Amino acid sequence: MSSFDLTILGCSSATPTSFRNPTAQILNISERFFLIDCGEGTQMAMRRFKVKFSKINHIFISHLHGDHFFGLVGLLSSFHLLGRTNSLEVFGPKGLKEIVEIQFKYSDTRLRYQLNFIELDTTVSQTIFEDNKVEVKTIPLSHRIPCNGYLFMEKPLPKGLKKSKVQFYNIPIANLPGIKRGDDFITEEGKVISNADLTVDPPPPRSYAFCSDTIYLESIVPLIKGVDLLYHEATFMQDMQDRAKETYHSTTIDAANIALRAEAKKLVIGHYSARYRDLDPMLAEAKTVFPETELALDGKAFSVAQQEWRS
Ligand SMILES: [Zn+2]
Ligand SMILES: [Zn+2]
Repeated sequence: MSSFDLTILGCSSATPTSFRNPTAQILNISERFFLIDCGEGTQMAMRRFKVKFSKINHIFISHLHGDHFFGLVGLLSSFHLLGRTNSLEVFGPKGLKEIVEIQFKYSDTRLRYQLNFIELDTTVSQTIFEDNKVEVKTIPLSHRIPCNGYLFMEKPLPKGLKKSKVQFYNIPIANLPGIKRGDDFITEEGKVISNADLTVDPPPPRSYAFCSDTIYLESIVPLIKGVDLLYHEATFMQDMQDRAKETYHSTTIDAANIALRAEAKKLVIGHYSARYRDLDPMLAEAKTVFPETELALDGKAFSVAQQEWRS
């Protein structure tokens, strides 16, 4: 069974606390490791939670507030010192490349590996990464500065063949790719064998939506409809909704309402204001709207199980 695991490396907003680093997460989809945001201390958190540095080839930065990227230059520098030679792609808003390059310029750091920046539009959802297993799209958010969330989706698998039926009808190899895509089979006698008779359906593709700093924003709902796992920031509790609006952040109830409208299977809240020491009241409040809510905590992992193949 292929992996689909999210590990929280940091769940604090603005300033780190003793137990909470600022935002960073690792998503493992079929052994592709995506680093999402890179707040201060991320590389130490990666060590603590046993993330292999060499496995990371793609980094996604939501926006240029420090609690989401102040760990990036340190991590890029460590990759260099550890002897990395594989190229690395960094996705983020305009300005990130300039910020990183100026630090390397004045420290006279010449990286051993190729570092590619992909600067993103934050006004429209776009596919920014795709391989044979995964597709990543941006989720434009509304924050004080340009900000994207990211939607990670498995590619649909082809149908599986029922081997016994393939043998029984003596189906030529040349026909098999078409049958996996949904074709029926016609025998030499002209009899139609329906596709459903010959195949099993693959498990539905799994998905994860990372919704970083944002004011309550219903326009994201169609983009993330039916998502298996939704992370949505919840910086404040509901009694601070005025403060949330002023600072372009969300409350526990905002996050839960987005999960409810999007028909997410599970909600993970995070990006807690440092004022909250005990997070249980935040969890309880979100659950009044969306019972399938869990707290992000540093080191906590969330897995989305793959469903069965179905005849
Ligand atoms: Zn933030
Ligand atoms: Zn922010």
